[in-house]
Amino acid sequence: AKKESGSSYSFFDKQMAMNSVSKLEMGNHLRQSMDRNELEIVYQPQIDCQLGKVIGVEALLRWNHTTKGYISPSEFIPIAEEMGFIVAIGEWVMRGACQQMKDWHNMLQEPLTVSVNLSVKQLNDERFVDKVIQILEETGLEAKYLEIEITENVAMRDDQLEALGRLRKLGIAISVDDFGTHYSSLSYLKRFPVTKIKLDQSFVRGVQTDDKDRAMIKAIISVAKSFQLQIIAEGVETEEQARFLVANGCSQIQGYYFFQPMSADQTQVTLQMSMQS
Ligand code: C2E
Ligand code: CA
Ligand code: CA
Ligand code: CA
Repeated sequence: AKKESGSSYSFFDKQMAMNSVSKLEMGNHLRQSMDRNELEIVYQPQIDCQLGKVIGVEALLRWNHTTKGYISPSEFIPIAEEMGFIVAIGEWVMRGACQQMKDWHNMLQEPLTVSVNLSVKQLNDERFVDKVIQILEETGLEAKYLEIEITENVAMRDDQLEALGRLRKLGIAISVDDFGTHYSSLSYLKRFPVTKIKLDQSFVRGVQTDDKDRAMIKAIISVAKSFQLQIIAEGVETEEQARFLVANGCSQIQGYYFFQPMSADQTQVTLQMSMQS
């Protein structure tokens, strides 16, 4: 049992109270953010270095709060999950990203993919799979051009895995995000209907400085090969990192070295240029 002085207790309580007030406040603003047009989807291109071109984009959510300015998804997604808005927000992102990609297909005639981040909480919504089917029908995007990125940070229940299995059967690709950062990484490959591994940026960061990160990257690439999965590295910021990855068999790359996440308009210009070259 911990024995704390009265003052540290009250400090602790105050902190807790403040945290929950600002969380509630943020939650309430978040509830209105969709109606107020404060949410925006930005896109980060994914490159195949062997082919030398953009092969897809990841959709990333942005919240431009009227008074607080830009709020990071790492900050508001957990609140949206806790308060249950993630279901509505996630559906909004999915529809927007699919519609956008269908427009780009029509415009560019290129088989680009769009990756959408999924919170495991969205799989608790029993209508989730039907909603995805509906979105694909509404937008006209073929299932094979949609990829769902899921982080293996919580133990998934059987019904959640079953929903992922149904999505995979539709032809949707399923990518394990932040691969290698959670203890269950390997066993998930057995249980998941996975098509791709996303090599976490924490390993990429150590390419020039850390033997262990380099060993991790090589090990994860060989896991991908053994399981016949695609692999993409994220958070690639330097030429050295890109060279190391390609030399070791990971040719799909995403990161600031090539492109930052961009507005839909900017992404469109980038895609047009990439397809011309
Ligand atoms: P994530 O899915 O792992 O996304 C990668 C994050 O790394 C993104 O941050 C991206 O902007 C950033 N990034 C990309 N390239 C580089 C690079 O070269 N260097 C560095 N340092 N960072 C890079 P972002 O956009 O702030 O998103 C943070 C997290 O929020 C995401 O991590 C994802 O877990 C979550 N998120 C974003 N959008 C959504 C969404 O629509 N739904 C859900 N459920 N989660 C989302
Ligand atoms: Ca992701
Ligand atoms: Ca990631
Ligand atoms: Ca992450």
